[in-house]
Amino acid sequence: MQLTENAIRVLQQRYLARNEKGLVMETPVDMLLRVAKAVAGAEVHWGGEAAVIKWQEIFFDALSQLHFLPNSPTLMNAGTPVGQLSACFVLPVPDSIDGIFSTLRQTALIQQSGGGTGFNFSHVRPENDYVSSHGGIASGPVSFMRIFNAATENIRQGGRRRGANMGILNVDHPDIQTFVSSKITEGQLSGFNISVGVTDEFMMAVERNAAWQLKHPVTGKVVKAISAQQLWDEIIYAAWSTGDPGLIFLDTINSANPTPGLGRIEATNPCGEVPLLPYEACNLASVNLTRFVTGRKGGDGIDWDSLEKTIKVATRFLDDVIEVSDHLFPEITTMVKGNRKIGLGVMGWADLLLMLEIPYDDDAAITLAHKLMGFFQRVCYDTSAELAAERGTFPNWSQSIFHPGKPMRNATMVSIAPTGSISLIAGVSSSIEPLFALAFRHRQVADDMELTSVNTHFLTYIEKHHLDIPEVIGPILESGVAGSSSVLPDEVRRLFKTALEIDPAWHLKHQAVFQQYTDNAVSKTINLPQGTSREAIDDIYMNAWRSKLKGITVFRYSSRQHHALYTGAGL
Ligand code: UDP
Repeated sequence: MQLTENAIRVLQQRYLARNEKGLVMETPVDMLLRVAKAVAGAEVHWGGEAAVIKWQEIFFDALSQLHFLPNSPTLMNAGTPVGQLSACFVLPVPDSIDGIFSTLRQTALIQQSGGGTGFNFSHVRPENDYVSSHGGIASGPVSFMRIFNAATENIRQGGRRRGANMGILNVDHPDIQTFVSSKITEGQLSGFNISVGVTDEFMMAVERNAAWQLKHPVTGKVVKAISAQQLWDEIIYAAWSTGDPGLIFLDTINSANPTPGLGRIEATNPCGEVPLLPYEACNLASVNLTRFVTGRKGGDGIDWDSLEKTIKVATRFLDDVIEVSDHLFPEITTMVKGNRKIGLGVMGWADLLLMLEIPYDDDAAITLAHKLMGFFQRVCYDTSAELAAERGTFPNWSQSIFHPGKPMRNATMVSIAPTGSISLIAGVSSSIEPLFALAFRHRQVADDMELTSVNTHFLTYIEKHHLDIPEVIGPILESGVAGSSSVLPDEVRRLFKTALEIDPAWHLKHQAVFQQYTDNAVSKTINLPQGTSREAIDDIYMNAWRSKLKGITVFRYSSRQHHALYTGAGL
């Protein structure tokens, strides 16, 4: 296997199985064999032992060539006593102490197994409301979020990383202003990403500068009216200050809900790429796009046949994961087996563009994204339809948008995950993000790990063009960007533009084109330079809604003291 030094460090520290003394007892190849074997075990239901052996080989072959990788819990847990393989869960938060603490217990156990949890806290009555059962005063959603946060801080996922949560509050909840500013002080709710659940009605009220009503979640009575613009400004100010809250566009999400008969979707998983009903879970995998570049420049430099084969294998792999995963609680098993949601996505998009010498901020990149993702989604759908013919449709199919015309095995198939860890294992750029920097450091607070990445395409390119001179390279690696280098030709600086140098409008264009072909959602962070104004963030959030995104997150460089990515190799 071709693994980078960083990949080996990450695998050893977090993924490879250990014995009771804590010593690593498998190699990366052993790990992938363990995963391929455990997942192919599902094939016994449809093809007996012969199918298990056949698919074990096919899965191992694809994984060991790094054609695709499943989400971290599958790599860590498949074939081990912790059989929980999904990264994404959504749990309900009812308006009762009994219900909230029962969800808290389930959250703790999910996070212990490596899963991330998302919640919408909007059903919880507001702060200072009356509690009839004991004549007391309600503490409100944000205060309950702090309890969930404390639990997360004390649970390391499978002992290997800290848990992650998404906390959502709807824009008409009386506590929305408290929620919006709940992360402004650094360190507060650090185990949560927070997002405001907004509706088209709210966005139009902001556009019209109209009044906005906050309603009691239980009685539906109007508690107070505020200015939509004022609330919007508070959201923008908080997002500018610290990156939180993001927005979740509830109407856009529900217009694409594949099972409207089962209820309205109110929440997503922690990084936003999977909108889910309460008690649903989803397992993810990402295709490593760099493996399908033929070497020709431009949009046709992709080996479409091999890509198709990998998408088909990975889709089948994810459907098998549902069979072999331990979903921990009966409510979750029922929902997961009922809808069979899976999420196949991509990683290495920025690297693929570099290999084809297409700048990220060029129309050619967007045109290629349309072609690639149109193809990607079609193959995922065709594979799910083939699996339905072989194995039957998902049990809730008759209540889905696919009924009656299109028998499908899975209620959703495509999801663009951040691939924060698996892209390090594959040694490629993460998800659909542009290069964060030509050289950068990843800092993982949870286990004190710091990794430095230098973009290999940049090194190869400058070597090929005889630009590998220490006086040129030194300052670029130190700062992480080539933008100010007076020695490099314009086209080189254009091609290797990094996240903070690319106009946010291009970040949004990429997110929007990938969303167009993604039935779940796209997780993307619009990374912005430190000097970005509030007005710029206002524009980004508004345009995100107008572009029919399902969610939006921004992060202004250094707006928090502790964050994950730092530009420059720190030389
Ligand atoms: N996730 C989590 N904890 C983490 C990182 C991720 O629970 O520290 C979950 C979360 O639901 C997220 C999903 O895994 O949305 C996918 O994240 P990513 O693609 O970065 O995960 P990877 O498979 O690369 O570890």
